[in-house]
Amino acid sequence: MHEMSIAMAVVGQVEEAARAGAASAVSRVELQVGELAGVVPDALAFCFELACAGTVLEGAELVTRSVTARARCGACAGEWPVGMPPDLCCPACGRATEVELLSGRELRVLNVTWEDAEDGPPAVPCREPISEEA
Ligand SMILES: [Zn+2]
Repeated sequence: MHEMSIAMAVVGQVEEAARAGAASAVSRVELQVGELAGVVPDALAFCFELACAGTVLEGAELVTRSVTARARCGACAGEWPVGMPPDLCCPACGRATEVELLSGRELRVLNVTWEDAEDGPPAVPCREPISEEA
């Protein structure tokens, strides 16, 4: 399942950061999810809960921030929200050859709230996009 591997990758990334910052509990994880990342929020929330069991993330709340997918046309510099399913044809000039996707594929941990951090949270975990291969 797509969402399960993502959830496990997120948990792995946060666990690593928790170890590095000597945090023993996580209360909240904020995740940035692009419109085109192909993630079903409900399925991800369900998988996240499963993946958290028995880790420092147990009971942590998952907050997903969705990112609108936008594209830019290289021919006329027009920008538009591509929507879902994505429309990669420029609405201004009708071209689809020089289209660049500006956003929408994001999938990364934005922020983590530690339960036991007294001097503020340790370093935010690595902001590398989440790879399902990890
Ligand atoms: Zn255009």
